[in-house]
Amino acid sequence: MIQRIGVVGAGQMGNGIAHVCALAGLNVRLLDLTDEQLVEAMAAMERNMDRQVRRGLYDELAKSEALARIETNTDMAVLGDCDMVIEAATEQEALKRKIYQSMIPHLADDAIIASNTSSIPITRLASATDRPGRFIGMHFMNPVPMMQLVEVIRGIATEDATVSEVRDLTRRLGKQAVSSEDFPAFIVNRILLPMINEGVYTLYEGVGSVEAIDTAMKLGANHPMGPLELADFIGLDTCLSVMQVLYEGLADSKYRPCPLLVKYVEAGWLGRKSGRGFYDYSGPDPVPTR
Ligand code: NAD
Repeated sequence: MIQRIGVVGAGQMGNGIAHVCALAGLNVRLLDLTDEQLVEAMAAMERNMDRQVRRGLYDELAKSEALARIETNTDMAVLGDCDMVIEAATEQEALKRKIYQSMIPHLADDAIIASNTSSIPITRLASATDRPGRFIGMHFMNPVPMMQLVEVIRGIATEDATVSEVRDLTRRLGKQAVSSEDFPAFIVNRILLPMINEGVYTLYEGVGSVEAIDTAMKLGANHPMGPLELADFIGLDTCLSVMQVLYEGLADSKYRPCPLLVKYVEAGWLGRKSGRGFYDYSGPDPVPTR
């Protein structure tokens, strides 16, 4: 059974993954490039756990025990006693390949390597390692502590035992696994992003305003957020890059990114994180921009 887990990359996703693993009782080794990033990640986890304590999900003691189970480091050598490593580093294939090359000499022979990649084929990443049979995709959703789903993606060489160990770990984290084959954008993003892209086309073609489109989908389809609000939340650069992966990976024109989405990204209007996307976030309430 997986007991000690390494998490490489302590950004938004990596700190969320470390958070849920530690709360589930696993010992976590969290790695990033710099001590500053690791300090920031520990502070983020503490803030997020405080919020969950205030909501009554668990108490202060459980929180401090969980935080104590997380050790941070910048040296891959500490991964030597891990049963599994989840890589949640920046979404660049060359960088991920380099990370695998530098961690593999330290890993136990049967340690599982999982990648949290949103868009790079698992089979291709696996081929950059010495263990395609023990390599798998484990795609957590953002924000990790709140979202129930993990997409478990098997590459062409992933062994059945690896899949069942990772599904078992997902259950222990209190999350639900769904299996996805290794095709572009897996399941959730394959369906969600074309819907968002169509929302942008609906705006681009003047069918409705930002407010009309979001209200229509909230009240007419019972979506908790409208597609344009959701696009701003995800980040328009991320939305565009998923559409490009679908367009190139499936070679089908139905996935062509909306030119208005491209223009917004070129303008640096990336959504919430840049203060402006389909809404303007500079005031107390988001204001539609079209
Ligand atoms: P992020 O930029 O917040 O974090 C990435 C972290 O990786 C940074 O802290 C960076 O310093 C670190 N890093 C880079 N090179 C490294 C190296 N050589 N060794 C150790 N650490 C290194 O990005 P994120 O949003 O957390 O995304 C991480 C992964 O999760 C990506 O593969 C992304 O596709 C995937 N993902 C993201 C989301 C999301 O909504 N943000 C959702 C699901 C999956």
